[in-house]
Amino acid sequence: MVYRPTIGLEVHAELNTRTKMFCDSKNDPDETQPNKNICPVCMAHPGTLPVINQEAVKHVVRIGTAIGGKIADFTEFDRKSYFYPDIPKGYQISQYEHPLISGGELAGVQITRVHLEEDTARSIHSTGKSLVDFNRAGLPLMELVTEPVIHDAETAGKFARELQLLLRTLGAGNANLEKGEMRIEANISVSSDDTFGTKVEVKNINSFRSVERAIAYEIDRQTKLIEAGGKVSQETRGWDEGKQETFHQRFKEGSADYRYFPEPDLPKLYLSEIPAFASDVVRASLPELPWERRTRYAEKYALKESDVEYIAATPERATFFDAVTNALNHNRDAVALAANYMISDLGGLYAKRGTESYATFDPRHFAELIELVVSNKLSSRGAKDTLLIMVEKGGEPEAIAEAAGLMQNSDPEALTQVVSAVLLAEPKAVEEYRAGKTAILQYLLGRAMKESRGAGNPETLKNLIIEALK
Ligand code: ADP
Ligand code: MG
Repeated sequence: MVYRPTIGLEVHAELNTRTKMFCDSKNDPDETQPNKNICPVCMAHPGTLPVINQEAVKHVVRIGTAIGGKIADFTEFDRKSYFYPDIPKGYQISQYEHPLISGGELAGVQITRVHLEEDTARSIHSTGKSLVDFNRAGLPLMELVTEPVIHDAETAGKFARELQLLLRTLGAGNANLEKGEMRIEANISVSSDDTFGTKVEVKNINSFRSVERAIAYEIDRQTKLIEAGGKVSQETRGWDEGKQETFHQRFKEGSADYRYFPEPDLPKLYLSEIPAFASDVVRASLPELPWERRTRYAEKYALKESDVEYIAATPERATFFDAVTNALNHNRDAVALAANYMISDLGGLYAKRGTESYATFDPRHFAELIELVVSNKLSSRGAKDTLLIMVEKGGEPEAIAEAAGLMQNSDPEALTQVVSAVLLAEPKAVEEYRAGKTAILQYLLGRAMKESRGAGNPETLKNLIIEALK
């Protein structure tokens, strides 16, 4: 029997705002002192009232517009009731029937909805006791739900990466999975016909790779379970990173258990009556989106797909590359070379160090380096060495290359001396060459390049050798 997997994702992301979702407490995901950013509102003291954070609404409206979703004409918040120490009010303010955004599409995956809610506090369980840090309680949290239209783990991973990139491009959130700023839950089912199978929800996934692995594991587990005559039960499972497997956490509550009802302490929002939230106004305010950027790179500079993917994968890389292309006046050949050096050489150096520091690398200096190569003043070997110094110490490439003796030497007089020295030291090779073994020229050229410490212009050297051996 062939089992077809179906996957739908639910993604939560903390939003970048100055203050929390419904109060004036600071939104600082990097605060290390527990319970510093709290106030009577997010601690649910009696008599306090929430106020909607406009910045958070704006972020979700922009995200929704970027993915082609519909901004709700009417939207409201709801109370989702449950008891847990991380939720001081005994309910979470979320959205139920009237989400901010409906529909849309990202990375080929249809979106059901995007809504806004408040984050919960962080519970810390240590031996013998449990602690609660309320700094996170009440942070603006976006929830995006996809349709059950994904059928393999790889597509799910790709979607999640694209969403992270979109959030970063829009400045809506840092969306760091490892820090819990973006949390992905995967719903997975398998079925042997065209009806849906029973879905299992997997939580606690902390990296994109784990998204793919957890889904693959779950597809395999469910398939084997059914083939052995068993039945998948609707449950929430956790992802165990150490064991690389999912485990039962709890059986799922129905939405009725949450007693959703409209939040009486907040006003309803009639967004279509607010000019700043008109979809064309929002659309016009968006920066270049990741997929638009990829198209531009491919069309304007004819870069190959994998190069485009690499450069457009983070806003930092793209911003750096754009500044470099500007400095190169968008000359296609120079830009192609710049892309090459950025990906293989600079990217390689950054990969070795484990961090990328495009923000502290002056793109004009990088463009100057490319120009030195284009104008043959620097060999590719010399350029690599110069780049290494630029990354380690900063500075202008020409000055660095001069100081390190890396500038390509095309001066025939100096190079004639180099050639004479090499030919004198290589009588056997010279003899072979004269006997008709002209392939030995490559060897002699290599020796001359070495003799000039890589700074000799190879074309000039080659001509000088041929001339001397006539
Ligand atoms: P619930 O009411 O249990 O929260 P929803 O219908 O709201 O379920 O869907 C939650 C998520 O599960 C969505 O991302 C949706 O695409 C996904 N989903 C729904 N049904 C299935 C299914 N049979 N298999 C896989 N994913 C599913
Ligand atoms: Mg649901």
